[in-house]
Amino acid sequence: MTTPTPTLPPKPSPQASELARPYWDAAAQGELVLQSCSACGKVRHYPRLLCDACYSDAVTWLPSKATGTIHSWTVAHHAFHPAFAPELPYTLVTVDLDEGVRALGRWRASPANPAMAIGLAVQGAFEAREGGADLVFWPKV
Ligand SMILES: [Zn+2]
Repeated sequence: MTTPTPTLPPKPSPQASELARPYWDAAAQGELVLQSCSACGKVRHYPRLLCDACYSDAVTWLPSKATGTIHSWTVAHHAFHPAFAPELPYTLVTVDLDEGVRALGRWRASPANPAMAIGLAVQGAFEAREGGADLVFWPKV
């Protein structure tokens, strides 16, 4: 007799607003894009309506290199959605992107990149998954 495998719900998918649609459309293509204020040039992330420097709503989208350094990280030992339970524990990193903003993503741990430290140079990319894409980071070589 075998124990039945519980059926997991699908991972939640982003419900893109019109404001954030260019971000999620680029993510689906594997690209990270950032908003840049068309009036003053300030780069911002996550997508939002107004520039916090000049309050303009004029925006352009810039491709990001998705490179930066680790600002901080945390290890998740509790799944806040049951679909993520099989992946526990997993690490989330906050990265200071080279464009001057911070982004949150998953740490791509492997035997080839076991070290993690604040200030470590990293490379990121979106990885496609069913229903969405996850921003992941790993050490830059
Ligand atoms: Zn501005």
